[in-house]
Amino acid sequence: MRHRESRLSRSISTTRSTMLGSMMDVPMNVIQIIERASRHHGSTEIVSARSHGEEAHRYTYAEAYQRVCQLGKALRALGLEPGDRVGTLAWNSHAHLEVYYATAGLGLVCHTLNPRFSAVDLEWIINHAEDQVLIVDIDFLPLVKDLLPRLETIRQVIVIDSQLAPAADRIPDALDYEALLATESSSSPDWATVDEHQPCGLCYTSGTTGMPKGVTYTHRSTTLHAYASSLPDSFALSAQDAVMPIVPMFHVNAWGLPYSLPLVGAKIVLPGRALDGESLFQLMEAEQVTMAAGVPTVWLGILEHLNQKSRTFSSLKRTVIGGSAAPESMIRTIESTHKVSVVHAWGMTEISPTGAVNTPTRALRQTDEELSLSLKKKQGRAIPGIDIRIEKADGTTLPWDGSSPGHLLVRGPWVVQQYTGGVVGARSDGWFDTGDIATVDTQGFIHIVDRSKDVIKSGGEWISSIALESTACEHPGVFEAAVIGLPHPKWMERPLLICVPRPNSSLSPRELRDFLAERLPKWWLPDAIELVDSLPHGATGKLLKTELRQQFSHYSLAPADNERTAGGVL
Ligand code: ADP
Repeated sequence: MRHRESRLSRSISTTRSTMLGSMMDVPMNVIQIIERASRHHGSTEIVSARSHGEEAHRYTYAEAYQRVCQLGKALRALGLEPGDRVGTLAWNSHAHLEVYYATAGLGLVCHTLNPRFSAVDLEWIINHAEDQVLIVDIDFLPLVKDLLPRLETIRQVIVIDSQLAPAADRIPDALDYEALLATESSSSPDWATVDEHQPCGLCYTSGTTGMPKGVTYTHRSTTLHAYASSLPDSFALSAQDAVMPIVPMFHVNAWGLPYSLPLVGAKIVLPGRALDGESLFQLMEAEQVTMAAGVPTVWLGILEHLNQKSRTFSSLKRTVIGGSAAPESMIRTIESTHKVSVVHAWGMTEISPTGAVNTPTRALRQTDEELSLSLKKKQGRAIPGIDIRIEKADGTTLPWDGSSPGHLLVRGPWVVQQYTGGVVGARSDGWFDTGDIATVDTQGFIHIVDRSKDVIKSGGEWISSIALESTACEHPGVFEAAVIGLPHPKWMERPLLICVPRPNSSLSPRELRDFLAERLPKWWLPDAIELVDSLPHGATGKLLKTELRQQFSHYSLAPADNERTAGGVL
């Protein structure tokens, strides 16, 4: 009887699907992106800067795909099997791009390693991920040589441009990347048949707020992220663009650009290791770049160069800035002085990484310049596919009123569910807590107030270190600013502002304090201001507040109330 019922229900469902029709079930696979680019945008260029006195490397998508095929066969010949991890320690270059795709095509996992991590962290991460092969740029050979005796699973090192390596840096038994490719033909290999939920990428968080955690990206999450981040109200990428990802391919896949740019067929301009303002500007001009993407620290260098040489861009139209908050003064200078539109974006390793992008709606395009500048400071609207929610510490959902800060939660198909090793990622209710404090306004614009670990808890209220830093940067004598909270006997925590003055400026703490007093609520004013020569940055170019807190742990703020500190411990 039961048997007859199940046959019946099966035949009903078959009849229904026959009646309603169906769509093809083509699994998303990252290799399809570059394969398609080679056919549809075969003559579009990929340009890769070289910094050992050589001319930039340039080839087309069609040629890139041929080399991806060669590399795929070579990696397979090394005995790698689907699921194996291939570590990379490399700059933004055409070779790195080839590794991204050849690994995906074989069902391998491209594990991008951040060379700016400490050697201790790298050793831990490579062993934790059980990487089998390391593909490295010659700049990182001394690092790899030092680490190698302690790397438990690495069985082969492959060196890009190995002939340029100083003899002392060479690693015995390492293979040369070009020689490896040369052994294989450029015909398409039988790429692996991979379920779209299988991994293709792996990236560890920078550990600025704890031990590094591994985030695994799948073919499906990577492809969907590439689609969503290319949309007009996201990065607005197209085949008409020439795009320079300054943001490194060794951290969160350069914001997914190595996937989204071939997806749309844009020209790609890769800056290699020369990330100073002058080199970046020259490359942008030489290749007529229309869009660049990088963290605020990189823009500090570019703007400083343009300022010193009184130069500006001839082709750059817009720039995506994210990774940390873009200060208002930076947005203003880029937009007003250089006529380049700033697109502020927010994301994190756990979100592949793009979560929100600041592009105006039709209604907001009408607003006046000052209003649009204050809007530009916000991190924008969640891109399609990403759901957001803000809540209080007790779990109560907060309204989208632009003034109720709370913990920012996200969910979506490119948000981490579980870290490597089974470490819990998303909560059991399906939301992922980003660790950021934010407001969301009535139009859905997210404003990141702070990281929950950085926000200054003063007398039961929150002071945003980001807002203080951004306001300090408005002062013409300030090059860079960082704010940390220090323990205070009465208020729990009070802000300390640490600034790097511009070269040749006569900035004094008192003058800066008066400047802030005109722009900020009195109780937000820092209790003390320190001027320093430089600020510590982490592996991803962000201010390293953990180190600043350590550096200033001896520092004691006067146990005064805010009235008295208005006179100041300056
Ligand atoms: P980690 O440094 O832990 O590896 P990520 O590089 O993934 O982390 O950085 C994610 C964090 O960077 C976010 O949670 C947020 O605090 C910060 N962030 C990213 N973009 C912005 C932005 N536009 N404004 C302010 N903060 C940002």
